[in-house]
Amino acid sequence: MTYDLTGKRIWVAGHRGMVGGAVVRRLASEGCEVITAGRDVVDLVNQKAVDDWMAMSKPDVIVLAAAKVGGIHANATSPVDFLYENLMIEANILHAAHEANVERLLFLGSSCIYPKFAIQPIQEASLLTGALEPTNEWYAIAKIAGLKLVQAFRKQHGRDWISAMPTNLYGPGDNYDLTTSHVPPALLRKFHKAKESGDTEVVVWGTGTPLREFLHCDDLADALVFLLRSYSGDDHINVGSGVEVTIKELAETIAKVVGCDAVLTWDTSKPDGTPRKLIDSSRLHALGWNNARDLKEGIAQTYSDWVANG
Ligand code: GDP
Repeated sequence: MTYDLTGKRIWVAGHRGMVGGAVVRRLASEGCEVITAGRDVVDLVNQKAVDDWMAMSKPDVIVLAAAKVGGIHANATSPVDFLYENLMIEANILHAAHEANVERLLFLGSSCIYPKFAIQPIQEASLLTGALEPTNEWYAIAKIAGLKLVQAFRKQHGRDWISAMPTNLYGPGDNYDLTTSHVPPALLRKFHKAKESGDTEVVVWGTGTPLREFLHCDDLADALVFLLRSYSGDDHINVGSGVEVTIKELAETIAKVVGCDAVLTWDTSKPDGTPRKLIDSSRLHALGWNNARDLKEGIAQTYSDWVANG
């Protein structure tokens, strides 16, 4: 299929987040009209507010990047918020989008939706084949329900809506709070601070051996625009870079980019987490997208953005 985005009204829900922000930047060159609404304009957990916003804004296309997100600690202490808020956001937006006859909609999953012991690299077909990682199952269950609701609207109402499933992301607009952030912003911050204050040592969590795949949010946004234009199908599509690095390699890359020659010290009292997390993006590559930037280049761009914009 080919769907022309030119002249379309596209609502990016969640534009203040890292992914939504990247999608807004990516769409700027597409000749479409991007619409956004902050929490003060529409409370996505409130069905009436979402219905009213949709009736008023009349988008042709929706990118659903809005979600309540957070790390392991937040998930463990606020399970209701993660399950309830995410279910409501998805259900409200999809229902209102159907009422408003929205032509194309792209829903975003997360790699935690896959079973804890899924075979790696994780294929789309692994969904619902095993138990989830208990620490974030609240969020994962809500995201799985969202994927299923998209499929249900396809099946029951013939809606040409799709879902994408990104790998670990990094880039401008990330969360730099050391207690809740993921590893790339945490290490950028730690090495930057060490450089500024002349520290000779930087403490990194775990053993450094876990393997992770990282994708720059602007590469994700490019893949999402590609999928909106060219993909129609019941299955969600994995979006990854296909490049795996150890945490040690990531830390060394970040140290080089920042220009910090402090010694790395491993705090093995902190958890390593899962030993390997890689998704299989061969379906996306077979569709014709393969554009992920080099990790070092992506980290360098993220670092200069953070130094310039905070
Ligand atoms: P995960 O991919 O869900 O495990 O999430 P994270 O991005 O939080 O962690 C990935 C890996 O980076 C784990 O092995 C962590 O132990 C390791 N890591 C090393 N230093 C840090 C740090 O300062 N912050 C975080 N969040 N992770 C770190």
